[in-house]
Amino acid sequence: MEKKVLVLNLDHSPVGIVNVQKALVLTLLEKAAPLANFDYLTIRTVDRNFAYPAVIRLHEYKNIPYKGVMLNRNNLYKRDQHACQYCGAEKSLTLDHVVPRSKGGKTSWKNLVTACHRCNTLKGDKTPEQAGMKLKILPFRPTLAYFLAEYAERHAEEWLPFLAAKTVG
Ligand SMILES: [Zn+2]
Repeated sequence: MEKKVLVLNLDHSPVGIVNVQKALVLTLLEKAAPLANFDYLTIRTVDRNFAYPAVIRLHEYKNIPYKGVMLNRNNLYKRDQHACQYCGAEKSLTLDHVVPRSKGGKTSWKNLVTACHRCNTLKGDKTPEQAGMKLKILPFRPTLAYFLAEYAERHAEEWLPFLAAKTVG
């Protein structure tokens, strides 16, 4: 799999992810400079080899409107590590309103969790307290840096030092 490149703003806040071709173009045009490379990878062209960037930083501050993480099924599953937040099951997953909609529970990051069908049915139209069920974590609204750190742990450890301070938000 081709490695992606993390792009940081001038102030080191993460801006997003680009493919390596785009990262090289930004570097060659001197719009960005590499901060870290994937040391075990190289980019070969006909007559030269390039270091394979892992993290680049833009030379100019880009004013980027805050891009929240979209509230949707996939991102909720991702936040919850694809596991039921009551029993830890990783199969037959659905979404659960912690405070049921019938009791005024909102459709929001803080009131939605991943649950297996079994727990979802057991819980029914009750709150976790009423159903005697305990959540593994309190649901939270993830930041872009949180998702990037998740990705980095699996695919790009080189990014982690640049995300560490920014994973709580
Ligand atoms: Zn469950």
